[in-house]
Amino acid sequence: EVTIGVLALQGAFIEHVSHLQKAVATAKAGSKIASAQISVVTVRTVEQLSSVDALVLPGGESTSISLIAERTGLLEPLRDFVRVQRKPVWGTCAGLILLSDQASKAKKGGQNLIGGLHVLCQRNHFGRQTESFSCNLALPFTNPYDVDDLFPAVFIRAPIIEQLLDDSTARLGALKIEDNSEESLVVSAPRLEADKDDATAVEIICQLPDSTGTEAGDIVAVRQGHIFGTSFHPELTPDVRLHAWWLEECALPFVL
Ligand code: GLN
Repeated sequence: EVTIGVLALQGAFIEHVSHLQKAVATAKAGSKIASAQISVVTVRTVEQLSSVDALVLPGGESTSISLIAERTGLLEPLRDFVRVQRKPVWGTCAGLILLSDQASKAKKGGQNLIGGLHVLCQRNHFGRQTESFSCNLALPFTNPYDVDDLFPAVFIRAPIIEQLLDDSTARLGALKIEDNSEESLVVSAPRLEADKDDATAVEIICQLPDSTGTEAGDIVAVRQGHIFGTSFHPELTPDVRLHAWWLEECALPFVL
């Protein structure tokens, strides 16, 4: 019996629940998904969080999600879930921002991060002109020789991963807590005692093509062991392959 939670404080959580349920219902015979007894639940309280084996953090507005998490007493338990218990998590868009060790943006103002993922992400990277767009991406499960097999991704005021922080940079960054003022453009998650024995490397899973269309450009998906993050919304198109891939490759291996 495996319980997958979707953080349901704000944002596109209902779509994640239905995508996960569909990924479970359509699992390939012989897969880990098919052989596990999986239920999908929403998480709004500390008690619900403690009952799940893995968690999806949806897109929405990271500032709001962070504020609600703080007010409902979920922020520290979420940090514990991700960084001390190291349970599998997947952040999409705003969820990716919250999981980052550092986040930057164009305007001043602080925001509390959960942290754990050793990256600096940049909020609202695509600016006003192209706040929202969709494009087809190559992901680990897509056939590189078949353009029709690419994954349709929706970007809505999306962040990108601006920089991978090595472990020591991440720790230094996390120590610069005095930066978390109304005057700062970069916010950092506070350092936790458990961080000192976390040396898992960040792996790039997907980059957009650059403006010339030939080279790899902005980083839009990364994985660091039990933490997976995507800039885009995979739950707003009918395709459930990324949810199935995450369950099979990122969540269940840590749970079963
Ligand atoms: N721009 C939002 C933020 O900074 C994220 C947008 C999204 O999740 N679609 O939190």
